[in-house]
Amino acid sequence: MQKIFAANWKMYKTRAQAAQSASDLAKGLGHMPAGQDVVVFAPFTSISCVADAFKGVAALSAGGQNCYPAEEGAFTGETSPAMLLDAGASWVLTGHSERRHIMGEDDVLVARKTIFALEHGLKVLFCIGETLDEREAGKLNAVLERQLAAVFSAMPEGLRGAALVGKLAIGYEPVWAIGTGKVAGPEEVLDAHAVTRALLKKLVGETADKLPILYGGSVKPNNAAGLMALDNVDGLLVGGASLEAQSFLQIIGA
Ligand code: PEP
Repeated sequence: MQKIFAANWKMYKTRAQAAQSASDLAKGLGHMPAGQDVVVFAPFTSISCVADAFKGVAALSAGGQNCYPAEEGAFTGETSPAMLLDAGASWVLTGHSERRHIMGEDDVLVARKTIFALEHGLKVLFCIGETLDEREAGKLNAVLERQLAAVFSAMPEGLRGAALVGKLAIGYEPVWAIGTGKVAGPEEVLDAHAVTRALLKKLVGETADKLPILYGGSVKPNNAAGLMALDNVDGLLVGGASLEAQSFLQIIGA
């Protein structure tokens, strides 16, 4: 299984700061082992700086943190997949909890974005995860099932099964662990990733075993190795600790 280490820079960094961090990463990751990919999800304004710094290093890619599901049009403030590709992105994030909970994106919009981005040539890291209230109410499985089914039940014929391999990754991010310093414990991560894999099997059959599932939520250099050692953890999605190149490099190296 392909391993993916993803950085989410959220709404941080000027273009100069992004270029510096990306070039530090490119220097530190010049010789990535085969089967490992690193993606930096940068703010729109910095995508081209990251893509430029990563040119020539095959395992490193730039991504956007959002897109709108239309070719072009009167959608003020939005960015299309074609614009992301033009800026040098090859990936996009969809369903991030900050977009679901702060910007109010629902499952239907997340599904439209995910499918439209895939259809237009972007790879997608599609995020799912429960809030603390949902977990405490025993709704973990139901929430993950609802979020996954929204996307997979709307997937067009051409994007079913093997067609998704190498193009779609899932990010499991418990909302209560994002930016809070509370990393989910090993049992919680094992359980949520096993549930996610089982739900994927129901939705896409054998292909489920070829879709990487990343863990995200307060990943740091000192917990990365432990998380990566867990079953069904095929990579990490790192927010705060990816802002410093050295700390993200330590996480990848761990
Ligand atoms: C994220 O932004 O996806 C994230 C996991 O953030 P943090 O690592 O800061 O919790």
